[in-house]
Amino acid sequence: MPCVVALVVAAGRGERLSLERPKQYLRLGQCMLLAHSLRRFTEHPCIDHVQVVIDPSDAALYEEAAQGFDLLPSVTGGTTRQGSVSAGLEALTHFQPDLVLIHDAARPFVSSGLIDRVLDGLAQTEGCIPVLPITDTLKRLSVEQTVSSGPDRNGLVAAQTPQGFHFASILNAHRSCENASFTDDAAVAEAAGLPVTAVAGDPDNFKITSMDDMTRAETMTLPRMETRTGFGFDVHRFAPGDSVTLCGCSIPHNARLSGYSDADVGLHALTDALLGALGEGDIGTHFPPGDPQWGNAASHIFLEEAHRRVKQRGGRLINIDLTLICEAPKIGPYRSQMISRLARILELPEARVSIKATTTEKLGFTGRGEGIAAQAIATLTLPEIS
Ligand code: MG
Repeated sequence: MPCVVALVVAAGRGERLSLERPKQYLRLGQCMLLAHSLRRFTEHPCIDHVQVVIDPSDAALYEEAAQGFDLLPSVTGGTTRQGSVSAGLEALTHFQPDLVLIHDAARPFVSSGLIDRVLDGLAQTEGCIPVLPITDTLKRLSVEQTVSSGPDRNGLVAAQTPQGFHFASILNAHRSCENASFTDDAAVAEAAGLPVTAVAGDPDNFKITSMDDMTRAETMTLPRMETRTGFGFDVHRFAPGDSVTLCGCSIPHNARLSGYSDADVGLHALTDALLGALGEGDIGTHFPPGDPQWGNAASHIFLEEAHRRVKQRGGRLINIDLTLICEAPKIGPYRSQMISRLARILELPEARVSIKATTTEKLGFTGRGEGIAAQAIATLTLPEIS
């Protein structure tokens, strides 16, 4: 197996996105932008070592970005990109690696497959770079903002990194053109007469140069979401009394609902629907009946706790649908009051809250007026479980 080193160039000032720090040290998702490419190279089975070129004034930021990675000691870059790559290559001479992959720190999404393609290409030639086709027509823009025809895009491609080379060849190429100013290493190689071939690049391996790029990158670091549903069912019997509590609303009736808490069947069924969508047990698991703190409790606290668990998991409730099953009391007159109560408890727009009511045609325990039943479904999004 050849010895392969990834040389990550992170010495640029790149202060267009932030005056506070160069872009490679801006936060992207859970870590700094630079750390994304460091992870991808250190985790790749064919990469033996990772060497980063930095500006010494960023030493403290670099320490933070590099935390937890097994890297070669950082190297001080030059005033140009080419100078920084040269410094990195010179620092690797004592290693004498067989192959080197030179990568811009501003491309955080280099994939394992792309690294494989470049390495495969190096089995055939001295240099291999990833490229993308150019699909837009190219134009020339004058300082007066006048547009004129540009070069024909046929035969033109856009170069990405990592650019791979046989180490000794690219080291010599850099040494032979010290005073030139090339913007990538394929140009250095070409100037030295090295053959460079191309493999397919990756649109996700884009370079972050603008705020729009940063926004796109942030979206790509968000967890993938999955949609989940949960179902809940509850029944409470009637007992002597003069009102029932349904969906947090007190409704006059010739009986009350009996239960350890306020016996709000609607909120109980909804609580179980949310817990069911989370796969986190049921209302009895979290609020055991008989526990003195829940005696006569207002049931919105159960539903609020289930909703808090949704948010704690990084999820978002999409909608709920509840059916109350009883002959009496009539639900219709209280429906809009219940909807606005549920919308407030669950921080949902009212359009995402549905309450329906039905009888059982005088059949069964609800038909005989012995109690009220409720069924509920909740739909939510949660970060994908792998
Ligand atoms: Mg109950």
